[in-house]
Amino acid sequence: MSTRYAPTEVRNDRENGRMTISWEDGLRLQYPYDDLHNACPSATCRGHGGEKEPPNLSGMQLLHIQEVGTYALRFRWSEGGCQDGIYTWDYLREIGQPMVV
Ligand SMILES: [Zn+2]
Repeated sequence: MSTRYAPTEVRNDRENGRMTISWEDGLRLQYPYDDLHNACPSATCRGHGGEKEPPNLSGMQLLHIQEVGTYALRFRWSEGGCQDGIYTWDYLREIGQPMVV
């Protein structure tokens, strides 16, 4: 695993319907629930070669964030959401959106 950056803080910001991550280099990124869910990298959502259309669901609620080893997160979503995605730190860096300060 060649992970360049690890998070220092992961927050489930239910009030604003997003997750936020502070990274060890000081960068802060946000992950609105719908975008986060629809970026799911699992084989269920993407197929093994990434050939499938991404899921396009809205109104997902993020119920629980779980760490996978020291390299990734997985998420428990409200009904209908995909529970299979393993989001590595590198992937999360890629799909995060800048925080509007
Ligand atoms: Zn999935």
